[in-house]
Amino acid sequence: MDITLTHSQISDAAEAAYKYALTVSGGENAHYIPYLANIDPGLLGLSVMLPDGTAFDFGDHTYRFGIESVSKVPTAVLVMRQYSPEILLQKIGADATGLPFNSIFAILLENDHPSTPLVNAGAISACSMVKPTGDSDAKWKAITDNITDLCGSAPELIDELYRSESATNFNNRAIAWLLKNYGRIYDDPDMSLDLYTRQCSLGITSSQLAAMAGTLAFGGRNPLTGKQVFDPAISPKITTLIATVGFYQNTGDWLYTSGIPAKSGVGGGVLGVLPGVLGIAAFAPPLDAAGNSVRAQAAVKFFMQKLGLGIMNGNNVTIVK
Ligand code: GLN
Repeated sequence: MDITLTHSQISDAAEAAYKYALTVSGGENAHYIPYLANIDPGLLGLSVMLPDGTAFDFGDHTYRFGIESVSKVPTAVLVMRQYSPEILLQKIGADATGLPFNSIFAILLENDHPSTPLVNAGAISACSMVKPTGDSDAKWKAITDNITDLCGSAPELIDELYRSESATNFNNRAIAWLLKNYGRIYDDPDMSLDLYTRQCSLGITSSQLAAMAGTLAFGGRNPLTGKQVFDPAISPKITTLIATVGFYQNTGDWLYTSGIPAKSGVGGGVLGVLPGVLGIAAFAPPLDAAGNSVRAQAAVKFFMQKLGLGIMNGNNVTIVK
């Protein structure tokens, strides 16, 4: 079926979704990272990005929150840019673990078989692959430059979050060394873990994340800068990774009910990609038991349902002014 949507229909749906999400309660801030535990739980931002660079923003869309696991998406893109989607598949993999994001059990189960760059183990592995090997500063620059390309503006490190996370990331330290044991880390394990921790501590706004989501949805062309950031062939690959594991053990339920591939972070962010149509991002700190923002999920789901959108619907969507 062909669907035509106007800018005002999209803007109205986003505003209604934002207002609806304000009425939704429940969840708790991430408590295992002290900085995140203390963020105002009432913050809520929602941003939508269209292919022509039109943005619709509501609520706390200029608030810089911890990107956390949403950072796994741009770094997976970077590895595909630096190597290829095929090499990412060989060295890390593209399978959902069906387990929590920080699962050690998943690594033990899959020791002879790769996982996905969108859980902690695969993301630390992805950081280890970033070139140039052995040079932490240059690797960090590659990671942040790539995020800047995807967003069209730079993220900013939240020092306090980085310190807070570095002081408490014992589980991730175990993951990095277990990966080393299984031959799935491709640079110094401690350096790879530090890069991962630092990228999780980047501050980002929902407006920036919606622009990133747009770049992913529009074949690698940043809708704000017009820059072709990556080979269009990477777009369906990253969207597949997001669709299969973006919400960890709840990914199937999420895609089934929302119709949009999306990636969450324990900072409260959600980034959603509707290929060829739009990018969306929402942010609200309280999380459900799987570590996904309660209100951000509610906002994105409401928006999708209101407009009758869904990646599996088979509709041909045209957006007009
Ligand atoms: N930095 C967090 C961690 O490694 C990110 C987790 C997440 O956002 N799901 O535990």
